[in-house]
Amino acid sequence: MIDIRNKKMVITRKAHTCFACIEEIEKGKSSVYVNAKEDEQRIQFHLHEECNKTIVKDQWFTGSGLYHGCIKNAKDRLEGSSVIKFSSDEELPFFMKFNIEVEV
Ligand SMILES: [Zn+2]
Repeated sequence: MIDIRNKKMVITRKAHTCFACIEEIEKGKSSVYVNAKEDEQRIQFHLHEECNKTIVKDQWFTGSGLYHGCIKNAKDRLEGSSVIKFSSDEELPFFMKFNIEVEV
């Protein structure tokens, strides 16, 4: 679990990767620089301003919900649930059921 100790606004002097969404933070942008502790280790990372707001607003991301790529994962989940329709096990063709059983 990540324990945030300190946050400050910085203007990036070079490009960084956002800890939460894994997208690039362009150089010269204001972003949030975070000092935190994870398993007794000090870690530092950058967040987009927007990602920081999402984390602060959304209870999901407090405590153990905050991890490397957490916003990216949350977005993937949202997109997946609206686009992909999972068919139930009963609807799978016979050979797919068979394959699953063989792998197990
Ligand atoms: Zn981000």
